[in-house]
Amino acid sequence: MSHQPSTPCVAVIGGGPAGLMAAEALAAGGVQVDLFDAMPSVGRKFLLAGKGGLNLTHSEPFDAFTGRYGARRDVIEPMLRAFGSAELRAWAQALGVSTFVGSSGRVFPIDMKAAPLLRAWLARLRASGVVFHMRHRWLGWDAANDALLRFATPRGEAAQTADAVVLALGGGSWARLGSDGAWVPLLAQRGADVAPLQPSNCGFDVAGWSEFFRTRFAGHPMKTVALSVRAASGTVFEQAGEFVITEGGVEGSLIYAASALARDLIAADSSAVIHLDLLPGRSAEFVQAEVARPRGSRSLSTHLKSRLGIDGVKAALLHELLPRETIADPDRLAAAIKALPLTLVRPRPLDEAISSAGGVRFEALDEGLMLRGLPGVFCAGEMLDWEAPTGGYLLTACMASGAAAARGVLARLA
Ligand SMILES: Cc1cc2nc3c(=O)[nH]c(=O)nc-3n(C[C@H](O)[C@H](O)[C@H](O)COP(=O)(O)OP(=O)(O)OC[C@H]3O[C@@H](n4cnc5c(N)ncnc54)[C@H](O)[C@@H]3O)c2cc1C
Repeated sequence: MSHQPSTPCVAVIGGGPAGLMAAEALAAGGVQVDLFDAMPSVGRKFLLAGKGGLNLTHSEPFDAFTGRYGARRDVIEPMLRAFGSAELRAWAQALGVSTFVGSSGRVFPIDMKAAPLLRAWLARLRASGVVFHMRHRWLGWDAANDALLRFATPRGEAAQTADAVVLALGGGSWARLGSDGAWVPLLAQRGADVAPLQPSNCGFDVAGWSEFFRTRFAGHPMKTVALSVRAASGTVFEQAGEFVITEGGVEGSLIYAASALARDLIAADSSAVIHLDLLPGRSAEFVQAEVARPRGSRSLSTHLKSRLGIDGVKAALLHELLPRETIADPDRLAAAIKALPLTLVRPRPLDEAISSAGGVRFEALDEGLMLRGLPGVFCAGEMLDWEAPTGGYLLTACMASGAAAARGVLARLA
């Protein structure tokens, strides 16, 4: 690498949306940026996110938006004030990608895809002077010289100095796309306070489906149901949506939305009971009256199907979870249709999760996202200790924190 002797040089390690946004803001700030990534190309998780429709951000009001970051709202909010939903949409537009607001308020590129956006972004980054170093796996710092960053490359180990470093190494899910969480011990060894990585927006196992239910209904969607779960604090989470029955449990957007709560309940109590309302559009009284209606010679299944539209996977789940006596008692059956208890016993492994909770604690960072114990080293993206539901909140905060880390670097270099 040859740089102008007077131009500060910043190493950005990790080329996901957080690192790329940091690189963009740093290059705009007039520093030389070298971006390193372990993989042969950057943005692999971003591209995967585009497969099911890239949910870039959300259009809800700022207050509701920042509320999605729960306990970390206070630290995320200032970053979103500088680069939030509106800025993100304008940024995509400037790259030639128009966005639209879906019926749920979620924001997507017009063509739903990530690839055109990434392509345009990388072209602009290269044009602004960012130099990409692929297949450079960061290994930490040289034991004898703190100023030297160590990288494993196809040509052997390489060392690199920089005036500042932005780490944007991602969380620990979907390791095959690059974010494998191998950075955790590297930072912990240097005294950084890192909360263990945990699955967030993840599926769960139940104690075990019956062979019949598993073989017949794994892969079936449950729509539309409402899920409620009570946190240890007493707060009740309640939301309507959809989820999917899996071989060993449940997954999908509604389960992900409750996943942080359920995960924490399991950690405290070894299981979490969620309640499913199979007919969220119907009142308990209506359901009770319909179930209790005389059914003559008709079977219960036919009765539930014709009176309430309960059949298929919903009917099967009632039989799977309820004792015979409850099914036979109209009042108890009606109550269960409105609040069917399902016990979750463990979250699916981190590698399968949409995102990671845990990471570098904000208490270890200053307002510019620099590690207090490692001056000149900044952190951004999913490797920070925050979590949020799906809905565009993940990408927005990753990019906002990339921009915030870049501001921190520029302020320090100035
Ligand atoms: C299936 C799926 C769908 C998703 N859909 C959405 C969505 O629609 N909307 C949304 O908001 N979010 C979505 N997400 C989440 C979102 O993609 C992530 O939160 C986001 O990519 C995290 O950005 P990041 O830059 O922090 O980390 P990453 O994107 O994980 O990037 C980290 C980078 O660091 C590199 N790296 C890691 N370790 C090293 C090392 N030691 N040396 C060098 N390089 C290293 C990796 O190779 C990688 O390129 C989805 C996630 C998944 C799995």
